[in-house]
Amino acid sequence: MVIPVNPELAPGLYLIATPIGAARDITLRALDILHSADMLAAEDTRSLRKLMDIHGVPLGDRPLVSYHDHNAGRARPRIMAALEAGKSVVYASEAGTPMVSDPGFDLARAAVEGGHGLISAPGPSAAVTALTLSGLPADRFFFAGFLPQGGSKRKSALGQFAAVPGTLIFYESPKRVAAMLRDAVEVLGGARPAAMCRELTKKFEEVRRGTLEELAEEMAGRTLKGEIVVLVGQGNSGTVSEIDLDSALSEALEGRSVRDAADIVAAQLGMKRRPVYQRALELAKARE
Ligand code: SAM
Repeated sequence: MVIPVNPELAPGLYLIATPIGAARDITLRALDILHSADMLAAEDTRSLRKLMDIHGVPLGDRPLVSYHDHNAGRARPRIMAALEAGKSVVYASEAGTPMVSDPGFDLARAAVEGGHGLISAPGPSAAVTALTLSGLPADRFFFAGFLPQGGSKRKSALGQFAAVPGTLIFYESPKRVAAMLRDAVEVLGGARPAAMCRELTKKFEEVRRGTLEELAEEMAGRTLKGEIVVLVGQGNSGTVSEIDLDSALSEALEGRSVRDAADIVAAQLGMKRRPVYQRALELAKARE
């Protein structure tokens, strides 16, 4: 059993990060908080119980409340009532950091709006873990979360990220990763450096690095399982800010077709035509 260092917790909502694979990635502070909080809330109560069992943290007679996307409206009042009564409440999502493509945002906002303490006990997140393994620059990055599941929506979302001046980080399902990479080649250009990180901190951890084109080709021929993060390095377009691109396109769109405007601006700014065309389409639509 872990002996808590600080068994006295001030009232407030404690957001704790939990492991994304290896159970020992829990932090000592998160364990202290799990030991001492008056109430526990979790996206998946069974995963939290399992984690607590592994680390010898007893639940005792403390309430453990389920709080996820589908019951948040019903569960929140109970948690808020505990905060109003001056209790300490700990919240954990199923894995990793709450609110990072996970529930917790509405709860945190309600705690802040109610004037309660909001405390973070940071720890694992798949996005940052993948970033450190990708071999891609980590000085500037953009967490894009999950893309829309397919078709033109995914392509147009990718188009919006084309000019981001930093490494792009996506969460993706193993079933869709091959199609997502194919779209990324089309929209962002196949020459960009990229990485596919799978099952991080787990037994079958795998990191593949290459150009987008190479990864797309490789993944098209594989059946993948597990949890995946895809990262895409900045393209040449990354040196052009969105503002520069938008203002060049706005000018070029005056009296020209979307196609012609995209050709002119892509050549002007030395960018790949596809993302410029996508953005030109969006701007032209917004003008209608
Ligand atoms: N809150 C979590 C975090 O901080 O990373 C993310 C939760 S989100 C619902 C789950 C997604 O995160 C998975 O579909 C996958 O894209 C990514 N993920 C989580 N654990 C992972 C792991 N061990 N290896 C690779 N990706 C992981």
